[in-house]
Amino acid sequence: MKEILLCKCGELVLKGLNRHKFEERLQKTLYWRLKKVGEYRVHGCQSIFYVEPEGDASVDAALEVCRRVFGLVAVSRAAVCEKDIGDIREKAGAYLKDLLTGVRTYKVETRRADKRFSLTSPQISRDVGGYLSDLYPHLQPQMEHPQVTVRVEVREDYAFVSGGPVPGAGGLPTGTSGRGMLLLSGGIDSPVAGWMMAKRGLELGAVHFFSYPYTSQEAKQKVLDLAQVLSRWCGKLTVTVIPFTHIQTEIRDKCKEDYFTLVMRRMMMRLAEETAKIQNCQCLITGESLAQVASQTVQAIHTTNKVCSLPVLRPVIGMDKEEIVAIARRVGTMEISTLPYEDCCTVFTPKHPQTKPALERVEQEESLLDVEGLIAEALAGVERITVG
Ligand code: ATP
Ligand code: MG
Repeated sequence: MKEILLCKCGELVLKGLNRHKFEERLQKTLYWRLKKVGEYRVHGCQSIFYVEPEGDASVDAALEVCRRVFGLVAVSRAAVCEKDIGDIREKAGAYLKDLLTGVRTYKVETRRADKRFSLTSPQISRDVGGYLSDLYPHLQPQMEHPQVTVRVEVREDYAFVSGGPVPGAGGLPTGTSGRGMLLLSGGIDSPVAGWMMAKRGLELGAVHFFSYPYTSQEAKQKVLDLAQVLSRWCGKLTVTVIPFTHIQTEIRDKCKEDYFTLVMRRMMMRLAEETAKIQNCQCLITGESLAQVASQTVQAIHTTNKVCSLPVLRPVIGMDKEEIVAIARRVGTMEISTLPYEDCCTVFTPKHPQTKPALERVEQEESLLDVEGLIAEALAGVERITVG
């Protein structure tokens, strides 16, 4: 039986005049993301995108892609039928067998785009419903909150039946909110933060601070693997790897130990902002969660915010670790994040870090460094790697 996918758009239907732009973006995203797994025709109509495999392209593979595309709230498989009521009802019975034997209540809903079709929508629903009730006598028609809604759609070229959608990724189509630069470490929090903001329509870039040989090549590979998982949701992702060793050794040699982390984080924010500007990003994204560690107190965040002018989005700021972990599992980053390789933050960790730093004291420590020179040197040595 020939199958296609029906992808239902979410929130973007509320966007009034912008709706057209959102749909266009979503259609392009679907097209490019699907191209990686096969040849598909993608076209949209009234908040639904139709994904039709060409040749032997797989519906399963397309479903795996579509359920990770932001902007879609539901994805269902549908069987393609002749435009003939006999074929429609028989296909509905056979195609939805597994689904309908597992439930008690159902209803049939019909949409008739081709108004020349001989039966009206209610007539089609009644006909198919009658057939299904005869075929599966345990089924009860129920108009309010049925367990399964069987959908029939009659279009210009063919008709199809579907049931049981899987949830889509939700959110807004990638890129419709602009671009954000994610500070991506190898930990649990930052990939989740990036995913959350991508869900709200940001296209992502990423920076990673790399302290070779204090952190290993495996640690860098881990970050690229995380980026690869993220790219399954948000498309192609370029990771800018910034050499950070010299900055860290300078901090270690020149600053007071309890200010190491704060000075280091200010350097990170500066480098992230410079990279963001070069790559046309309008904001930064971090995985900070309030008071999770010494550098994430309100006072510490104040001192790091001072060095950037772009807005810093911190979507997990109010979340507990378990809440972040639950999202990491859904996104698929958890297993990689919990691999043991160290991140640069843990290389020169002070024994007693400042948790309530005064801005002037941090600035004073920092003034012992050649900030501009170190920033320029790091930016000159970046490596860009694109995944996805
Ligand atoms: P994560 O789980 O994301 O590593 P964390 O709880 O370990 O976060 P920190 O190590 O203090 O917290 O880092 C706070 C944030 O700073 C991270 O979420 C990330 O956005 C950014 N960050 C930390 N280390 C790096 C790094 N090596 N490269 C890029 N960004 C980093
Ligand atoms: Mg970390």
